[in-house]
Amino acid sequence: MSKSNDPRSGYITLRFARTGTDAATLTDFLSELVRTDPRNALPEGDNIPIWDEPLVGVAAAGDPLFETLKKPQVVGPIHVNPDFWLPGAKSIISFFLPFSKELKESYDPKSPLPSLEWVSGRQNGEVFVNVVRRALARYIQKQGGQVVIPNLDVRYHAVNLLPNWSERHVGFIAGVGTFGLHCGLLTAKGTAGRLGSVVTDLEIMPTQRSYSDVYEYCLQHFDGSCGLCIQRCPVGAINTEGKDHRICMTNSANNVWPAFREWGYHSCGHCQTHLPCSDAIPDKILRKNGRSRRS
Ligand code: SF4
Ligand code: SF4
Repeated sequence: MSKSNDPRSGYITLRFARTGTDAATLTDFLSELVRTDPRNALPEGDNIPIWDEPLVGVAAAGDPLFETLKKPQVVGPIHVNPDFWLPGAKSIISFFLPFSKELKESYDPKSPLPSLEWVSGRQNGEVFVNVVRRALARYIQKQGGQVVIPNLDVRYHAVNLLPNWSERHVGFIAGVGTFGLHCGLLTAKGTAGRLGSVVTDLEIMPTQRSYSDVYEYCLQHFDGSCGLCIQRCPVGAINTEGKDHRICMTNSANNVWPAFREWGYHSCGHCQTHLPCSDAIPDKILRKNGRSRRS
């Protein structure tokens, strides 16, 4: 097949034939990127895919929840509103990229350390998260919108581990998922993954949140029946009150980094793998909401 006839060749915004900015079209656009872009691959071994197809949610820039992120018990006063990034902002597109099945299966549930595939995917996968952010931005521009990628903007920064734009909290507002005890976002495709977002002046129909509570998808919050992420953390960084990020970082520095020093990798994923919330919203919560994993 010649390069020009190969549906996998060429930049995604040139070969994606459809137009439109509704959440379904944006999901299809990003799914095609994830399925076909050769950069979605581990550099080691059999070059397994790092990411699976994403979830996409849209938030209105005027959603009052953005103001609540400034509260000290949420993110803090450092957090900014969408129009800080783009005056006249109307919508925020948030996406969740789940780690691939192959990458998650590489993680030995009995090992105190993550797999090489995990630590590599966690680090090298960040490059592809930025590929997704930039492709989405370019697609929005092609639809006539202005767009800013907060996480890649020079004004993006964090103080004492608190960012001025929290992808997880933005994902919550955009209907992508709720928080879990482990402080990760828990989505219909699980919690093992990464989030990204772009801000645009295009008016896009916001995603209706299928939850009302911050921890609605977490079993521990639901009926106190889980807490498995507490047991799985090798350094006791998670307790019934949540996660201590500073204790968490000691595991990377003292255990994971020394084991993978020659590769330059350091990311633990015990609280994202082999848990009831790793790959999906826990069944008990879906049943309560009258849903199944297929719905
Ligand atoms: S492992 Fe259990 S307690 Fe921890 S976040 Fe997931 S559902 Fe909640
Ligand atoms: S990433 Fe690892 S060390 Fe950090 S909280 Fe999760 S399980 Fe604990």
